[in-house]
Amino acid sequence: MSIQSLKDVVRNISNFPIDGIEFKDITTLFQSPESLHELSDIMYEKYKDKGITMVVGIESRGFFMGPATALRLNTGFVPIRKPGKLPYKVLEESFTKEYGDDAIQIHADALTEDDVVLLHDDLLATGGTMLAAYKLVKKMGVKKVYINFLIELESLEARKLFPEDVEVDSIIRFDI
Ligand code: AMP
Repeated sequence: MSIQSLKDVVRNISNFPIDGIEFKDITTLFQSPESLHELSDIMYEKYKDKGITMVVGIESRGFFMGPATALRLNTGFVPIRKPGKLPYKVLEESFTKEYGDDAIQIHADALTEDDVVLLHDDLLATGGTMLAAYKLVKKMGVKKVYINFLIELESLEARKLFPEDVEVDSIIRFDI
């Protein structure tokens, strides 16, 4: 299966959830067994030799391929969640969104200084969410961080928010 055929399976919904947004619906990717298999294989091939010890996924669409990739890589999985969802001690990072502020949390004991982390989310738009996640994981003193998205909206140029020495990768790229 080519990247173009994966791209063709992503469903575009115009003006969702608000006017002016071209929403990339990934449920169609997951509901196709061939696409799901292909995504899993691509993730495995990209990261199998990087020494990843933990996959960290961002709520909520990072919870689909995150654990699936952790299983392939033989690592654990750690969730980053919205405030009030994690039951134990947490570390938090706030960030600004288009309308108002937001925050994300991780369990304070979820990662160690020996961890090589694969930080994963479904889509890179403005990058605010992933930048906050990156800062959160860095605060925990991990050894190295890789960043991955299934989809990147290239025209928003959000990958430039991340330090140059951090490998930022995406599988499917859209102009809008
Ligand atoms: P951002 O912080 O702007 O990079 O937004 C990233 C988060 O918002 C991702 O977790 C996506 O799930 C969601 N998101 C933002 N824009 C879109 C879009 N056009 N289509 C689908 N999901 C989106």
